[in-house]
Amino acid sequence: EPPDDSFDFLFKIILIGDSNVGKTSLVQSFSTGLFSQRQHNTIGVDFTVRTLNLDGRRVKMQVWDTAGQERFRTITQSYYRSAHGALIAYDISRRATFDSVQRWLHELQQYGAANVLVALIGNKRDLEPQREVPFSDACRLAEDKGMVAALETSAREACSVQEAFQMMARHLLLQN
Ligand code: GDP
Ligand code: MG
Repeated sequence: EPPDDSFDFLFKIILIGDSNVGKTSLVQSFSTGLFSQRQHNTIGVDFTVRTLNLDGRRVKMQVWDTAGQERFRTITQSYYRSAHGALIAYDISRRATFDSVQRWLHELQQYGAANVLVALIGNKRDLEPQREVPFSDACRLAEDKGMVAALETSAREACSVQEAFQMMARHLLLQN
């Protein structure tokens, strides 16, 4: 039998945030459920797709990862174009990556669609002893900036990664 590739909704989701916060790991964990210790600058493809079934609706998530350009603080403008949702990721154990969130949000607002939905993702939750960003700071920022949610994940422990993407999908369904 041929695979059933049909879907009811297609959403383009982009990952942004500083280098090394775990964007590629999050995408990999979402698409394969696996975590690989060593990450490359790029996962070798422009995007990965996965279809979620949410209350009987087939939601195809096309998730774009940067090819490591954020290292140079220059992500091509076309990356933002036509994105329905954006996950801005930071590392809970490195305050500087949280301080960068406003800058990423600004770029998104500059180059992205006016109605793009944004969620704030604090990754590396497993590094609790080294935590530098209280979750309350993330919640306040998300609230202030009109993001749909703030959530903490661990790509390493596959913790709350599916939830992060599902949460975005649900918000997009509400909007569409
Ligand atoms: P990117 O540059 O934002 O794409 O980040 P990567 O996905 O390449 O990850 C950067 C480094 O952080 C790698 O060494 C990963 O193994 C590590 N990493 C990613 N996610 C986690 C996590 O949830 N917990 C921990 N402890 N390390 C992580
Ligand atoms: Mg990466």
